[in-house]
Amino acid sequence: MIKYFTCIISGIWNLAKGLFVTLKNVFVKPVTLQYPTQKLEMTQRYRGLVDLYPEKCIKCGQCVKICPTACLDLSVKAGEGADKKKEFGHFKYNMELCCFCGLCEQVCPTQAIYMNKIYEIAVYEHGKLHIDLLDKDKYDEWANPDVK
Ligand code: SF4
Ligand code: SF4
Repeated sequence: MIKYFTCIISGIWNLAKGLFVTLKNVFVKPVTLQYPTQKLEMTQRYRGLVDLYPEKCIKCGQCVKICPTACLDLSVKAGEGADKKKEFGHFKYNMELCCFCGLCEQVCPTQAIYMNKIYEIAVYEHGKLHIDLLDKDKYDEWANPDVK
């Protein structure tokens, strides 16, 4: 008989403890976001996709040399003008191979190449992971996903 009442009291006590925890958290600010309608602002040191300011690039090729996975492909040709200033042939980035180490960003003498803040990088097509760094609209689809 005593055991029966002890079980009832213990049950009530445990229920009260659980309700107290719930009540306490009702007034606490949530730590979660309603993803994907709400999104996190990435930190300053976050390494997203490799991106480029073409106008800052001096075509030195240091980023290509240091890349441990050979995912950058830069081709340069002599310019048409009198100064023969170097011009881009192409500048490609194979995201499939990238390990997001950030070495290209670190070595660049003009801060032309950098890691952006994009983190929603899932794609359905294999070919979308082969990026033309000279295309200014290259990441539009990822940067502004159409969230329903
Ligand atoms: S982040 Fe690393 S792996 Fe990716 S392109 Fe830059 S150097 Fe190469
Ligand atoms: S290291 Fe910088 S300046 Fe040199 S080719 Fe790469 S992006 Fe251009």
